[in-house]
Amino acid sequence: MKKEDEIFIPYGRQKITQDDIKAVVKVLQSTMLTQGPMVPQFEKAISSEVGASYAIAVNSATSALHIACKALNLAQGDWVWTSPITFVASANCALYCGANIDFIDININNGLIDVDKLEEKLIYSEKNGRLPKIIIPVHLSGSSCNMKRIDELSKQFGFKIIEDASHAIGGKYNGVKVGSCQYSDVTVFSFHPVKIITTAEGGVACTNKQEIASKMRVLRSHGITKEVNSFKYKPSGPWTYEQQELGYNYKMNDIQAALGISQLKRLNSIIHKRNKQRDYYQKAIKEENIQMLEIPLNVKSSVHLAIIRLTNKSAAEHKKIFESMLKQGIGVQLHYSPVHMQPYFRELGFRENSFPEAKKYAESAITIPIYEDLTVEEQNRVIDALSNAIRS
Ligand SMILES: *Cc1c(COP(=O)(O)O)cnc(C)c1O
Repeated sequence: MKKEDEIFIPYGRQKITQDDIKAVVKVLQSTMLTQGPMVPQFEKAISSEVGASYAIAVNSATSALHIACKALNLAQGDWVWTSPITFVASANCALYCGANIDFIDININNGLIDVDKLEEKLIYSEKNGRLPKIIIPVHLSGSSCNMKRIDELSKQFGFKIIEDASHAIGGKYNGVKVGSCQYSDVTVFSFHPVKIITTAEGGVACTNKQEIASKMRVLRSHGITKEVNSFKYKPSGPWTYEQQELGYNYKMNDIQAALGISQLKRLNSIIHKRNKQRDYYQKAIKEENIQMLEIPLNVKSSVHLAIIRLTNKSAAEHKKIFESMLKQGIGVQLHYSPVHMQPYFRELGFRENSFPEAKKYAESAITIPIYEDLTVEEQNRVIDALSNAIRS
C-alpha cells in the first residue's frame, strides 16, 4: 500500500466481513445466480426488519424510486416535489415518467424539507391548479423528515408519499422504524456501498399496500406476470407468461441478496457505532460557529453521514476550508450540491436563488468521515485537520 492510501480517510466506506464473503461464495457455488431463493429471502428479512408488509428488491434505489412512481400512476403533466438537498435520483424518477419536478426549500439546521414552506407552497399551488401528485421526502443523513405533518398535508391536498430513505435504514421516527410506511405509500432504501448496508448495487421498495407491491413486482421484471389467475388470455400451455405492460429489467440477483442478508444481521450494531461516532464528533469539535446537522427530537438517526455546518463563514471561506481538509488527507464531501443548481435542472428553468436556504446550506455544509471501522484516532485526525483548516 502506498503511503498516501494509508493516510487518506474517506468520508464513507463499506465493511465486508468473512461471513459476508462466505454467503456470497455459497451462491456462486450454487445453481442459481439470479432468480433463485436469495432475493425472496432478502425481501422477507427487510420487511420484517422495518415492519412493512411487502419489500420488492431491485438493482438500485434509483430503480425503486422509478417503479414506485410508476406504481402510483405518475404520468406526463403530473408534478413531483422533493428536496433540493438530495442525490439527483430523487428528482430524476419523476422525469423518467414524463412528469414535472419542483422542490421544497429546506430547514437549514437539519437539512430536511421545511414543512411550513411545504404547506405554504401547497396552498399557493392549489390556487394555480398545480398540486403535486407525489411528494418525495428525503431523510438526509438518516434522519426522518416530519412524516406525521407531511401525511396530514397529503390528506388535505391529496398527494401520495414516497419516502427516499436511501440513508435511513435502521432509523426510527416517533419510535417506529423507518420503512414501516406508517405515513407513506412507499419507502425506498439504497444498498450502494457508501450507504448503511450494501449489496454492491441494490435497493428495495417497501409498502403496506398489496396492489402497489404487485405493480412494482411486475414493473421490475419487464411488465411480465406469471400469475395465471391474472392473465388476460387463456394460457396455451404451462410455459406461458404474459407481458401486460411495459416494464424494466430492474431485478436484484442472488449474489447481491446473499450479501444483503448477511449485512442486515449487523444493522443494529452498525447504527449503534455510527451514533457513537457522531456523538464523539459533537463533543470533541470545540470550534465556535460549527454545528453538526441537527437530529429532530423524535428521530433516531441511522447517521449515514456526519455533516457539519460553518455558521459564520462566507462561501469562499467554506471552499478554502474544504480544500485544506482534502490536502490534509481528509475525504470531505458536500451532500449535496443542490439538485436545482445542476446544469440539467437549470435548463428546466430553476435559478440559483429559487431555494435560498438550500443554496446557503450548500455554501456552509461539509461531510466529514463516518463509517463502521473509523477509529477514534482517525476521528481525532479529522478534528485536528478541521482546526488547522479554520486557522490557515
Ligand atoms: C444513494 C441515493 C439514491 C440512489 O441510490 P442508488 O442505489 O445508488 O440508485 C437516491 N437517493 C438518495 C438520497 C441517495 O443518497
